[in-house]
Amino acid sequence: MLLNLGVIFYMNEIVKKLDKKLKLLSYEYIGDTLFIEVERTNKSTICPYCGRKSSNIHSRYIRIIKDLPIQEYKVILNIIAKVFFCKNKNCSSNTFAEQFDFIESHSRMTTRLKNKIVQASKGMSARASKSVVNDSLANISDDTILRLLKKNNSSDKE
Ligand SMILES: [Zn+2]
Repeated sequence: MLLNLGVIFYMNEIVKKLDKKLKLLSYEYIGDTLFIEVERTNKSTICPYCGRKSSNIHSRYIRIIKDLPIQEYKVILNIIAKVFFCKNKNCSSNTFAEQFDFIESHSRMTTRLKNKIVQASKGMSARASKSVVNDSLANISDDTILRLLKKNNSSDKE
């Protein structure tokens, strides 16, 4: 029991580094992976299409996002994301999904994990970096690693 409290405290700290409003709901170890369920505690948010505030929740869905490992466990965040109604009649959208600052749009990993992968893969072949990343950070496909490395190399040259 005491051990569990320690783990929960530690996970909370790590989750709050992503976003102060993230709340830990539950966690589960399966194999070498720690699944952490979180949600933001905000009651309202700004519509990204028109900038108006909304507090009318339409629905919720789960985003599965890889994050940095905790101790020897790979981490997968199950983020309960809210969909809000936009009540602005002039807005181009009736609903919008809550955005998270720590995930780049359409990404399936946190920005801090992405940065770590790029850093860990510097100067390595895609094959070598795949094995380093998959052994120590997260289960990431060849395609994703290649894409990250290409993107990073091209931005280095700019
Ligand atoms: Zn709107």
